[in-house]
Amino acid sequence: VTAKRADFAVIGGGIVGLAAARRLLQDSPRRSGFVFEKEPSLAFHQTGRNSGVIHSGLYYAPGSKKATLCVEGAQRMIAFCRERGIDHDICGKLVVATNESELPALMELARRAQANGVPGLRELDALAFRQIEPHCAGVKALHVPGTGIVDFAGVARAFAEDITVNGGTIHTHCMVQHLQRKQNEWILQTPQGEFRAGTLLNCGGLFSDRLARAAGAPTALKIVPFRGEYYELKPERSELVRNLIYPVPDARFPFLGVHFTRRIGGGVECGPNAVLAWKREGYSRLSFSPRDSVETLGFGGFWRMAAKHWKTGVGEMHRSFSKAAFVRALQKLVPDLRADDIHPGSAGVRAQAVLADGSLVNDFQFARSEGALHVLNAPSPAATASLAIADEIAREILAS
Ligand SMILES: Cc1cc2nc3c(=O)[nH]c(=O)nc-3n(C[C@H](O)[C@H](O)[C@H](O)COP(=O)(O)OP(=O)(O)OC[C@H]3O[C@@H](n4cnc5c(N)ncnc54)[C@H](O)[C@@H]3O)c2cc1C
Repeated sequence: VTAKRADFAVIGGGIVGLAAARRLLQDSPRRSGFVFEKEPSLAFHQTGRNSGVIHSGLYYAPGSKKATLCVEGAQRMIAFCRERGIDHDICGKLVVATNESELPALMELARRAQANGVPGLRELDALAFRQIEPHCAGVKALHVPGTGIVDFAGVARAFAEDITVNGGTIHTHCMVQHLQRKQNEWILQTPQGEFRAGTLLNCGGLFSDRLARAAGAPTALKIVPFRGEYYELKPERSELVRNLIYPVPDARFPFLGVHFTRRIGGGVECGPNAVLAWKREGYSRLSFSPRDSVETLGFGGFWRMAAKHWKTGVGEMHRSFSKAAFVRALQKLVPDLRADDIHPGSAGVRAQAVLADGSLVNDFQFARSEGALHVLNAPSPAATASLAIADEIAREILAS
């Protein structure tokens, strides 16, 4: 093994790439591996810009990868945090039906929770759920006691420590610019020179589709970036929300609807919405990339998605530009909230895969090509599920 050759190379220093590299190295002490991250630090994109919720697994279709890997992953994430002394809090959450018309969808979540093996759920009427969240309004709620909060960037850093301890090398500031497969080996061009590896693992998040194509993997899906913008609750109004309050989500979308989330580091975030982003890693409303925009607009799947969901899209855009509209959505859950109780906060961009027929890929998706595995759809709850996803990746790689 020379310094520039390893058994595997992971592209992407987010929580999924790091969890997978950690797993592959811990599995076999003789195995060597690289992680390449183009940014100056790890967890720079989705992993460092999310809601920080350890999801329990009630939203996902029974039998799906999201369901099984989230339920297993959540338990393992909690155990990992405990073991490593990473600050987390299993504070529980409420999912609240704000009117009678949302009750069937709320009950569907209860059914899914049971089918997926999410423990401890209770149906509560308004009197009972106000004991948990005194300012919350609605007709009925599900209390999910096992949901928690954590800083996933901190978890990712702990994974990185394990990688280094197990002999792996992490290169930051190191964008993989070109990929070539030659004589059973990958040749990766980076600003730090050429590296070689037997197996390639693409965990490039918002760029995973482009990386897959660059590695010669035929895939018809495209990552469409959806920005999620947050507001922050002012500290002097923190009594409005004790922990986590969620609406009943629109079942046609993989997004959960704007909600209230207590952060492990303090404070309460309100959001995120889900607006189409014109730049894959663009965090402000003005972020624009000609290449990303042309790619989105030139993709038939985008137009088919837009034709199906334009009404929701317009609503989300409106909520992005109008604070009053954002506040109205939040007031359905907490009517005492006033516009000046919140101020603009951070934003994240979700890597959501869309198929050529315009459908949003619901489940986690992996694709194999010669000597490579590509993680092509790993949006929420992939941070929660990362330890279980890593096992799945290791199984896929070892089977090939
Ligand atoms: C707004 C928002 C809220 C969310 N809330 C939650 C939540 O509460 N709970 C939960 O479980 N999940 C949540 N998620 C989802 C979660 O954040 C993601 O599923 C998870 O972080 C995905 O990790 P990743 O490693 O696949 O991607 P990323 O963290 O995006 O990492 C991919 C990395 O690849 C790097 N990269 C790309 N191309 C190259 C290249 N050519 N060379 C080198 N490096 C490259 C990027 O710089 C990036 O660091 C949320 C996501 C968003 C956006």
